[in-house]
Amino acid sequence: MTIEKIANKYWKEGHPEEIYSNTEMDEMRRKECLCVNCDRKNDKIPYSSCPVAKKIYDICVKHDMAMAITKCGATDEKGDLLYKPFYPVLLERQIASEQNQ
Ligand code: SF4
Repeated sequence: MTIEKIANKYWKEGHPEEIYSNTEMDEMRRKECLCVNCDRKNDKIPYSSCPVAKKIYDICVKHDMAMAITKCGATDEKGDLLYKPFYPVLLERQIASEQNQ
């Protein structure tokens, strides 16, 4: 994680001239939504198969935000989960580990 002090580009009277920002995430957000654990990032056009990711991305662009999605319960019109685990092997191990407890 890269937290840096940067110029406040929205500065106006009474506001700080500099703010802290996670510049690493800012850079990533310009290329993709931060649904970092979802395999939909590997679509030919990243996240093109997920309408929810498109909405998140549009909000980030509109409001100059960087948002990390760490949990997702987005479903399609049939109620099926859209989330596709990016690390299926790790997920299988985690599920097996939880079942053995
Ligand atoms: S299913 Fe969820 S985590 Fe995956 S791309 Fe869509 S919004 Fe992001």
